[in-house]
Amino acid sequence: MTEIAYISIGSNLNNPQQQVITAVTELNEVLNTKVAAVSHWYRTSPMGPQDQPDYINGVAKLETKLSPEQLLKALQTIEDGHFRERKEHWGARTLDLDILLYGNQTINLPYLQIPHPGITTRNFVLLPLADINPQLVLPDETALATLLESCSSKGIVRLSSGDICGTTG
Ligand code: ATP
Ligand code: CA
Ligand code: CA
Ligand code: CA
Repeated sequence: MTEIAYISIGSNLNNPQQQVITAVTELNEVLNTKVAAVSHWYRTSPMGPQDQPDYINGVAKLETKLSPEQLLKALQTIEDGHFRERKEHWGARTLDLDILLYGNQTINLPYLQIPHPGITTRNFVLLPLADINPQLVLPDETALATLLESCSSKGIVRLSSGDICGTTG
């Protein structure tokens, strides 16, 4: 059975624009998975510790036959390939891949929460999700459009395709 999953992609170290583009290619290379759409890219202010560079953020829509757990493993393998180091909470990183949504499922495991808990408040996931699917509705029936109305546009700038190579944005 094929499911739709939305993946948040973020980077603020070692040429973030290249990191996120490569990540899209690698997502497409995951077994039984293909990238069906990619959002615009955004330059965003860091959450948490402010003594770190701005982020490049975007969202990819996947069609996958992997289970949520298999998909999480695949994302962590890609992060490891980008030499992701886990130090400070919300600290700088070469690549962060989060599962935002997996079909219409709600999952609450210690190591996996879907929808991703940040989804309702983070402009850097709400805006790119809306690029791909403005009609999106969360499993609890909250409309993406409603979340967007109450989210701030502070600290986020949409990049034009000329600012970043290899995108359709
Ligand atoms: P945040 O989750 O608030 O965006 P973060 O991405 O910086 O913070 P990480 O250190 O990358 O957090 O991940 C911590 C753990 O989150 C991972 O080891 C993973 O098991 C868990 N996790 C829970 N739900 C998800 C999800 N939906 N997607 C990815 N990881 C998740
Ligand atoms: Ca594939
Ligand atoms: Ca994250
Ligand atoms: Ca993460």
